[in-house]
Amino acid sequence: MDRKSFLKILAILPVAGLAMKLSNLRKIAGSLDPTERMPVLFLGHGSPMNAIEENEFVAGFRRTAKDLPTPTAILCVSAHWETRGTFVTAMETPRTIHDFGGFPKELYEVQYPAPGSPELAREVQGMVTKAQVDLDEKWGLDHGAWSVIKHLYPNADVPVIQMSLDHYQSPVYHYELAKELASLRRKGVLIIGSGNMVHNLRMVAWDRLNETGYGYDWAIEASEKMKSYILSGDHQQLINFRSQGKAFDLAIPTPEHYLPLLYALALQEKDETISLFNDQALAGSLTMTSVKIS
Ligand code: ZN
Repeated sequence: MDRKSFLKILAILPVAGLAMKLSNLRKIAGSLDPTERMPVLFLGHGSPMNAIEENEFVAGFRRTAKDLPTPTAILCVSAHWETRGTFVTAMETPRTIHDFGGFPKELYEVQYPAPGSPELAREVQGMVTKAQVDLDEKWGLDHGAWSVIKHLYPNADVPVIQMSLDHYQSPVYHYELAKELASLRRKGVLIIGSGNMVHNLRMVAWDRLNETGYGYDWAIEASEKMKSYILSGDHQQLINFRSQGKAFDLAIPTPEHYLPLLYALALQEKDETISLFNDQALAGSLTMTSVKIS
């Protein structure tokens, strides 16, 4: 919040209770003070089991977090929250949603009790002009968010909000919407897209589930093409993923795991570089490839 809007809000406060409201306002304004530009992440989340397993991907998430400045809050766009319209979670204490079936009991017992940030939710609502952003009180943190964020911030001490994917909008719409979030990066907010670039669950080689590095030819082809577009900054090709041929069509049978990548890339600024990590195919039809923009 800049000084001018801060003063504007002060001007409309009734005199009664001013002292209390002043201290609250300071807290809110303070939490979104200008900071260094935060990096942006796209995280390949893969199986929910990554939440409780020790493997190279989890190690990759931890390594990446070590080099990040501590965020004031996280805004996560997860593949697992699709809506009609755009929502941001606005509750004080988001619940941990176990939005999957058929996994061991241990996974359903995981709680990630990070606080929410109603202040940040309202800030996002106020700054986006491309869409009407509604505040949500029902969702929480789905596994696209908590299964990876828990490895970045295991103490659950960074507030997290989620922003939904409007199922009915085009790729370019998502890309442009994401651009409107740019100023959050200078308010200490870590923006994370969580999905998988190559994600075809129907074609998973279930018998080779734990075989890291195993990708079908089309999966490798799509992955290599995606990475070359990402590294050369050719976002237009990535937005037009439906015109990229058969390998892309197989890699992206439905767009929800791919779109969070566009949210991250839309936030790349001219002087920024890309680093890839967890760059592995898995079980034939998935890739865990993750991106850091800084
Ligand atoms: Zn997923």
